[in-house]
Amino acid sequence: MKGSRGEEQQFRVLVADDVKVIAQSISWTLEEAGYETAVARDGEECLKLARSFDPHVVILDLMMPKIHGIEVLRRLKADDWTRHIAVIVCTVKGFRTEIGRAKQLGVADLIIKPFEPEDLVAKVEKARSARPAGAMDTAKFLLHRDTGVGKSSYRPELDAAGGFFQLWGTRGSIPISGPQFMRHGGNTSCMTIEYGEDLIILDAGSGIRDLGLALAAQAPRKLHLFITHTHWDHIQGFPFFAPAFIPGFEITIYGGRGFNKNLEALFRGQFDPDYFPIQMENMEAKLEFVYLGDDPVRIGDVEVSWEFTQHPGATLGYKIALPGKNIAYVPDNEIFQGYMGQPELIPQDPELLSLYQPMIDFLTGVDVLVHEAQYTPEEYGQTVHYGHSSVPNACFLAKITGVARWIVIHHDPGHSDDFLREKLNLTRQLLAGLDHPIHVTNGYDGLIEYL
Ligand SMILES: [Zn+2]
Ligand SMILES: [Zn+2]
Repeated sequence: MKGSRGEEQQFRVLVADDVKVIAQSISWTLEEAGYETAVARDGEECLKLARSFDPHVVILDLMMPKIHGIEVLRRLKADDWTRHIAVIVCTVKGFRTEIGRAKQLGVADLIIKPFEPEDLVAKVEKARSARPAGAMDTAKFLLHRDTGVGKSSYRPELDAAGGFFQLWGTRGSIPISGPQFMRHGGNTSCMTIEYGEDLIILDAGSGIRDLGLALAAQAPRKLHLFITHTHWDHIQGFPFFAPAFIPGFEITIYGGRGFNKNLEALFRGQFDPDYFPIQMENMEAKLEFVYLGDDPVRIGDVEVSWEFTQHPGATLGYKIALPGKNIAYVPDNEIFQGYMGQPELIPQDPELLSLYQPMIDFLTGVDVLVHEAQYTPEEYGQTVHYGHSSVPNACFLAKITGVARWIVIHHDPGHSDDFLREKLNLTRQLLAGLDHPIHVTNGYDGLIEYL
């Protein structure tokens, strides 16, 4: 890269084209005209240079190796640090869909190959003086750079000290796969809360396998696994949990009393040689099984408490209190069981309400509620006593507990992404009808939220 604009502040142009002769000819044309240039040979290099070379304009070829030009453009426009850069898309005639997409993403200009050198220079000149649509005040931004004012740029960093939670499995009943489930994912229940040194894990559905692979790449540490109940979808991932096989990891598994069998025996049962080729004795981590008492479990600055839910067998919901914030995890709970009426009329049935008062009290005031709403009203007609909530009844729980943030999990294995989106819209509609229009979203495998 070289420049020839003399004493003036150089105007930088990044040329992204994988065809060497084209990239070079564009670069020479621009340097002749007095610009400083750099060349990127693929999409990945273009994104890197967009940050390090800090160009004013990018000439972007669409057909590029590693990352396609459209995706490069999308990423440039999504990044606060590069979105001000004027992008001139350079492509061959006839790629109408791609050209349309590029326009949607906010290109400054377009040049069709082959082109005359003076046309390109004219377009760069134009982009130089124009402001890209929707971007920040580019002129001011460039002025600041050119004069050296504001060189120490504002680049805030994420403060992770407040902890975060991650969903690893958001499906109920059985793991699923298929294109219609891509957006939400198909792994069964598992969530983590990261705060301080120890890790809190909630349930060991198939989602715990991915978590295990991530943990196995890190130094051994203490893990606290809280089990809501021992239905398959909440423990089936444990035999595939890599840290359990690694010496140095210490895993404490907590569960409620009230299962017909002992908690350890229930876990061990999954390793019966008739079901699984590896035995629990092969797990080299330190495993400890603990029955929960009435008092909350204290882990560093975090406190974990529990309440029984409405679900076949003894099933728990958990509340995790971090300093200044608390989260509730209740994947299986048929709240207001059997109630089919309008949610706003639930208070007219004090007996029903009082039955669920302990859970209402438990959840009142939580900052983030991670709770199911598995069935639509139509489905609920066929699924009462399955142990899962109807959307209207779960909405009323959100209203009466006053939660402001609700993440819906434990999606039915038969519900496609499109179906779940519609169910979410219904949930929002019902909450608005209850005069409680809170922030509710569908949980999905991989969701991370900082606290
Ligand atoms: Zn379940
Ligand atoms: Zn269950």
